[in-house]
Amino acid sequence: MAFFGFKHGVHPPEEKELTSGLPIRRMPYPDEIILPLRQHAGKPATLCVKVGDYVERGDPVGHADGYMSVPIHASAAGTVSAIDLWPHPDGSYAQAVHIKVDKYALQAARPRMVPRWEGLTVQQVVKAVQDAGVVGLGGAAFPTHVKLAPPKDYTVHTLIINGAECEPYLTSDHRTMVEFPDRVHFGCRVMMHTLGVTKAVIGVERNKPDAIEALERAKPKDLDITILPMTVKYPQGAEKMLIHAVTGVEVPSGKLPVTVGVVVQNVGSLAAIAEVFDTGLPLLERIVTVTGHGLKRPANLIVPVGTKMKDLLAYCDGVTPNAAEVIIGGPMMGQSLANLEAPVIKGTTGVVVLTADEVRGEKVYPCIHCGRCLEACPVFLNPSWLGDLARVKRYDEMAANHLSDCMLCGSCSYVCPSNIPLSQLFQASKAALRRIQTAGAA
Ligand code: SF4
Ligand code: SF4
Repeated sequence: MAFFGFKHGVHPPEEKELTSGLPIRRMPYPDEIILPLRQHAGKPATLCVKVGDYVERGDPVGHADGYMSVPIHASAAGTVSAIDLWPHPDGSYAQAVHIKVDKYALQAARPRMVPRWEGLTVQQVVKAVQDAGVVGLGGAAFPTHVKLAPPKDYTVHTLIINGAECEPYLTSDHRTMVEFPDRVHFGCRVMMHTLGVTKAVIGVERNKPDAIEALERAKPKDLDITILPMTVKYPQGAEKMLIHAVTGVEVPSGKLPVTVGVVVQNVGSLAAIAEVFDTGLPLLERIVTVTGHGLKRPANLIVPVGTKMKDLLAYCDGVTPNAAEVIIGGPMMGQSLANLEAPVIKGTTGVVVLTADEVRGEKVYPCIHCGRCLEACPVFLNPSWLGDLARVKRYDEMAANHLSDCMLCGSCSYVCPSNIPLSQLFQASKAALRRIQTAGAA
């Protein structure tokens, strides 16, 4: 199968060797679990427990609030000890359910009905996936059931599975493919069946040869699934870049992948779908890469959703004396963590502890119009010009210059010799535009 790649992009140091060879281990249950009701794209869940309630592992603590929402489940048995506003990994505060974990509980989820997916209608599969609270585990946390039922006006012909994991440091998808290739293929089977497609492509960057081999070995003979090795380039895991790399087709500005007949899903999400139809368990835990030169014992861990970041770092023997910053996600698109009390949520792919040497100097110099950011931008924007507009708050002009196409990949900031935090400027500008548009609509 041809590999098309995409133009521009960057090649940051991979830094994956810290954890790429480490098998996934299960982290013990912490003393307390914190479950924010807002942890996916779409509407937050609505609270359905009260302080003092005892919940079993797998019981809902928040119901889905409409179609663009999923429930949140207790990832450990215990007593609801508080419901309050709590630090969220995105830097804000969100309503959260605290569970004091019952240390004597078996933590075996109540036996649940395991739906036999082959006999289900599309609507029943979609409902089972929504009820299980499955969202995209690649970071964006988009509700998976919505992708399983694309609008009827479009015909989906190809399912593309995202195994690129192009962010430096992160290896949770890599290890999922190496250790659980059968689950990835099973999830792929359910998704192909539900979407009614006969063709799937799993794109994996060539720096994961063991993952490519494991997926090839486990490939079902009765399905047309291609494992496509891809050259290593950032941000190949971004949905539109991946579609171009695999099919050579460009998704038009402002349009969804389905308009070109494609649905994209992350390998971790496929493994989560497999779990739903294999065990009947909702999404209670996820694989997190905890890594960085500022961490004493990097690891790939199965972590109960709701585990506090400080407990996660403590389990990895804590940080080194020269640790300077904790990033949630990878260093290119991730966010600096403001509060270690914030919990792991469904979209937490990794936690990276950077040392003082790795943290970029604060000094920002004027733009020297070198054009490197233009050469790096994979969606062909002019980051230098957009940066000028952001500084003087000319948001309308930024919108006219396609700010909405910016995926905040950070490639422009990465190459800028003047240290201009371009992607942060664009993130703030997008938020300002949203506020202006919301105020205008009110
Ligand atoms: S302008 Fe946006 S899409 Fe382009 S390189 Fe910068 S962050 Fe990425
Ligand atoms: S890379 Fe930085 S210095 Fe060069 S043109 Fe872009 S904003 Fe200006």
